[in-house]
Amino acid sequence: MSSEPPLAGDADAVIARLRELRAGDAPSHGGTILSYVYDSGRAELDELAAAAIREVQPVNGLDPTVFTSVATMERDVITFARNAFHGPGAVGSVTSGGTESCLLAVLSAREYSHADRGSIVVPTTAHAAFTKAAHVLGVEEIRVPVDPVTTAVDPAVVADALREDTFLVVASAPGYPTGALDPIESLGQLARERQIALHVDACLGGFALAWWPDPLPPWDFRVPGVTSLSADLHKYGYSPKGASVLLHADRDRHRAQYFATTDWPGYPVVNPTLLGSRSAAGLAASWAIISFLGTDGFTDLVAATARATAALRDVVAGIDGLRVFGDPVGPVFAVATDPASASPVDPHRWARAVADEGFALQLQPGYVQPDGSSLPATTHLTVTPVTERVVDDLARALVRGAEAARGLPPSPAPEALADLAAAITTGAVSLDDLLSLPSETTAEFLRAAGIDPHGDGELDMPAVVAAVAALPRSVTAKMLTEFLALYTNPL
Ligand SMILES: *Cc1c(COP(=O)(O)O)cnc(C)c1O
Repeated sequence: MSSEPPLAGDADAVIARLRELRAGDAPSHGGTILSYVYDSGRAELDELAAAAIREVQPVNGLDPTVFTSVATMERDVITFARNAFHGPGAVGSVTSGGTESCLLAVLSAREYSHADRGSIVVPTTAHAAFTKAAHVLGVEEIRVPVDPVTTAVDPAVVADALREDTFLVVASAPGYPTGALDPIESLGQLARERQIALHVDACLGGFALAWWPDPLPPWDFRVPGVTSLSADLHKYGYSPKGASVLLHADRDRHRAQYFATTDWPGYPVVNPTLLGSRSAAGLAASWAIISFLGTDGFTDLVAATARATAALRDVVAGIDGLRVFGDPVGPVFAVATDPASASPVDPHRWARAVADEGFALQLQPGYVQPDGSSLPATTHLTVTPVTERVVDDLARALVRGAEAARGLPPSPAPEALADLAAAITTGAVSLDDLLSLPSETTAEFLRAAGIDPHGDGELDMPAVVAAVAALPRSVTAKMLTEFLALYTNPL
């Protein structure tokens, strides 16, 4: 940008420019994107959230004794959440999102157990936020395989993985990749026997499962041994991004999540979350939506989501060559190739073909677990209340996409990256060398593979995901870091 921005002094032009930029975004409403966004399909909720955010725009959530609205709204949201999740004595905090809730759950469990470092046991299907938490907090993450058929974790496998220094077990309700519900009751019993914490990550679907019409085994604070639970308000709480709740079964575990110090010449610092100064926008939007919808409103929206989910699962079950993978319970599921079919459909080719029909599904790579068993490549669908409105069009797109993709082999990784994978396998290129390459060289690899952050062509996602599956995960993590940094930064 030049030193004199062309929009300087013209507020209308600034907003006009923003609208222009927004026009290039994927559509956040209308149900054509089955990931990232959680559309209630009710415009009045978005209006309400916007009005609430405007009211608190200048507020600093850092000090609820000064901005007392923050304390009241937080108390109300926690009350609603602990009722929804059957924890009458649970307490907690509103955070900026699921990643922060998960990170604080690990922090709290570590502080509460007085572990210096210690370890956490995490099923492979648990959200990557726990890998991030372990990384940031200097805790060891012990990844345990899930059952490759149901994709839920086996409590006996968790029990075997526990070590002397393990202070926390993580379970998902449901898990993002496949929508499976881990066996919370058995894990709760295990956690109690071993006197360690059990975190239920309900970030994704907590606010959907709480009112899900089909019977589910208990997965929340009804289960003895559950010490904390996270649920994102910016998912099935329909709030704009920036809001999640973390609840703890008891007050001391909640307090262990805080950072407080008076040991400097400034104001006393008492932070329940990772941030210092914090926006009240996510809190106010969530509070407004919860106040407006109440339990009945949530129940209705969840019912619509459940109907759409059931309809779409039936459609997939009826497509020769594809199948719903594992044993999903809530509003998300994954689709894999049906190995029993004589006419298999590759799930990523399918997703690409469904995109041509106007619906964006999310690709997930195949995954080899620590015990050598593997989870197949899948395509993920997150179903929301708005999905019901487009369910017939979507069903048609899923069927037509399968016909278009039928018989096509899985997309190969870009040639340059397939060559690189081979060179790593033969030892011609060392992993250490590769991981210490500077940004410039990493960018060259991307360009050689035809993955150009500044190109005008669309990314070939099946090929990118094939590269993720072919290369060591640490290598693709580094390359995608380079890609995103180039994409979002001035050169
Ligand atoms: C989305 C999600 C998270 C992380 O949440 P963010 O809000 O994206 O930070 C954690 N766990 C599960 C199961 C999720 O789906």
